[in-house]
Amino acid sequence: MELQFYGATERVTGSCHILRVKEYAVLLDCGLIQGSPQEEALNKEPFPFDPSSIDAVVLSHGHIDHSGRLPYLVKQGFNGTVYTQQATVDLCRVLLLDSASLAERDAEYRRKHPLTQYDHHAEPLYTREDAVRALHTLTGLPYHEKQEILPGITIRFSDAGHILGSALVEVWLEDGGLRRKLVFSGDVGQYGSPILNDPETISHADAVILESTYGDRLHRELKLTLTEIGEIIRSASNGNGNIIIPAFSIGRSQELLYLFGLYYEEWGLDRWQVYLDSPMAIEASHIYWDYPELHDEDAVAFRQDKNMMPRLKNLHFTAKVEQSRAINAIKSGAIIIAGSGMCNGGRILHHLKHHIQRPECCLIMTGFQAEGTLGRSLVNGDREVVIHGRSYPVKATVHTIGGLSAHGDQNDLIRWMTGFENTPDVFVVHGDEPVKKIFRSALEEHLGLKVTIPKPGEIISFGS
Ligand SMILES: [Zn+2]
Ligand SMILES: [Zn+2]
Repeated sequence: MELQFYGATERVTGSCHILRVKEYAVLLDCGLIQGSPQEEALNKEPFPFDPSSIDAVVLSHGHIDHSGRLPYLVKQGFNGTVYTQQATVDLCRVLLLDSASLAERDAEYRRKHPLTQYDHHAEPLYTREDAVRALHTLTGLPYHEKQEILPGITIRFSDAGHILGSALVEVWLEDGGLRRKLVFSGDVGQYGSPILNDPETISHADAVILESTYGDRLHRELKLTLTEIGEIIRSASNGNGNIIIPAFSIGRSQELLYLFGLYYEEWGLDRWQVYLDSPMAIEASHIYWDYPELHDEDAVAFRQDKNMMPRLKNLHFTAKVEQSRAINAIKSGAIIIAGSGMCNGGRILHHLKHHIQRPECCLIMTGFQAEGTLGRSLVNGDREVVIHGRSYPVKATVHTIGGLSAHGDQNDLIRWMTGFENTPDVFVVHGDEPVKKIFRSALEEHLGLKVTIPKPGEIISFGS
């Protein structure tokens, strides 16, 4: 039995590893590479294995950097089952279809506005039809139940506390007399984050594949972050403008609505109208509220108290384009939550065009902003930004909020690792190169573990 590292080894995105036991091959995640156009072009490269030889996929959670290449895998001949947590099946319906629509629109744009000779024949990585076929391969499992997926391979999901349905994956392997246990962390959430449970403790493994997105840093305390958001909203209500919040459709949008409900009076939200202006975030919110059994104690108590979630009298879902356009006419008193979270596309761009030149308006940046995105320019304090090819002076106030993150920081990851009662070998993935090295040192220093940073293609044998 062996494990081969394939994706999310050289970079954060494109999570994918291969487990081989006896004659069977199982993929752990099948994620899309996200980043520069050159990096994203790698998604179209053939897989370094025959997709029809893969018997099953185990998917840790819905995020596209973990799930987004599944339709391509199916298109290339994969014919097995994808096992994932039940809520992830629902989120994938939203995420994979959106990813396919984006790919189709992008290919069409390139055919119409070719920059190179290849663009004349631009094809999407996969179509909505491929995505629908991939959705049919998904099988939802509840947390905490063991399932034998192939002879000698048994899995169990526990809550990773990262997004709804995110799973820590335990894998028991058996070949002849040999037994080994592997744990795949997927993405690990923050302890104490809104709505979701804390990452669950796992007490034993021979080997752990561990993410390291924020393995080099500490997040700002959540309490301080909430005080800060409250202050921004309260002081903004003295002005005559709107508040714009770019937010990821899955996770961050639902967290914000939940926090607005929780601090409704304290933050003076009755003076505002709140718009969730993203069809994808609206769909994801319904899925979030459909799984109360996956919410933490506070969220359950809040829901029981208020009977529904989130119970905002002044919340408007604006799925339709004309509803979204109508928001442009509102000059003050609106809080607009829209995607994309990094302002590199989507409806947020229209709202920024209408508000960024108005000093009485403010922007609240709550999420990670990758290098090269409009969101990053705003966070960096650029006084002028380009939207849809036109330059705009930034006169609105830009607030950057540090403490909301779907990923645990170094302390969270170390805390989760202390749950292991034995000393597993650790393989650090899903992080930038310097981050992984800093995180490796922290793990070695605090927990005395043997830590490896695997290279792409590297094979670990569990046989000896
Ligand atoms: Zn994730
Ligand atoms: Zn991830």
